[in-house]
Amino acid sequence: MNSLIFLGTGGSAPTKNRGMPSVALNYNGNLMLFDCGEGTQRQMMRYKIHYGKVKYIFISHLHLDHFLGVFGLIQTLKLGGRTEPLEIFLPRGGIKLIEAIVKIPEFVKMVEFGEGEILKQNNFSITTFLLDHNIETYGFVFQSKNKIKFNEKKAKSLGMKGKMFTEIQKNGKIIINGKVVKLSDVAETKRGFKISYCPDTRPSKKTVKYCKESDILIHEAAFLEEDKDQAQDRKHSTAKEAAQIAKQSKSKQLMMLHLSPRYKSPENFEKEAKKVFKNSSVAEDGYIVKFA
Ligand SMILES: [Zn+2]
Ligand SMILES: [Zn+2]
Repeated sequence: MNSLIFLGTGGSAPTKNRGMPSVALNYNGNLMLFDCGEGTQRQMMRYKIHYGKVKYIFISHLHLDHFLGVFGLIQTLKLGGRTEPLEIFLPRGGIKLIEAIVKIPEFVKMVEFGEGEILKQNNFSITTFLLDHNIETYGFVFQSKNKIKFNEKKAKSLGMKGKMFTEIQKNGKIIINGKVVKLSDVAETKRGFKISYCPDTRPSKKTVKYCKESDILIHEAAFLEEDKDQAQDRKHSTAKEAAQIAKQSKSKQLMMLHLSPRYKSPENFEKEAKKVFKNSSVAEDGYIVKFA
């Protein structure tokens, strides 16, 4: 079973209940982190995520609350004798910033990225897009590959054999004895799982476009509508605005994070969001969502 684990759901400053931003995704044995705020390694221990197994770290932007945890994590891994590669993806200027503070061990590979597909593996990909914050900030879209299930009986009756199965998956159709056979004639396609992570941003059209039909939309909600002027000033979103993005993008589920430490309870965030988009909730540290 694959899982999404919320390690830190606070923003700007930690509170007793909320750590700094970080969301772990464990997909098919690939452990990755979206942001790595201060204390992330300790949150991983706390929620039983093996920090030694982390393969990829994606940093959304170079505000301290989103990447300060990288230093400690690298240091601990080094002390533990790590040799397997760890790839850290950062926005432009990130490598210089990290190198100024810590000597990068050999197992760490740092990659600076812009917009577009930044990682493609056999069964999933990671795409980035620009958010609307006060410095260069990116959202991430995790998409697992579609699963194709053949109706073997039907495929064989139409004359399919051997390499034709690979070919039809690649091209969407194939010609057998002069007749066109479409993939949909012989197979069912199960859409892959889509998770979008959008920290630190004003609501934006681009987010709606990139996060279209997400199974899980993780979107910041730093403020409530009553403090909307501050959300605008600091380039953050309100719970209502996060819910509007979920609705417009036709996502299935909204999980909010990065709540400002000034709010004592998440209840009003849920109330406000649910009025616009029913399947809204505030993520708490330690929340786990499992998916097939
Ligand atoms: Zn932040
Ligand atoms: Zn920020």
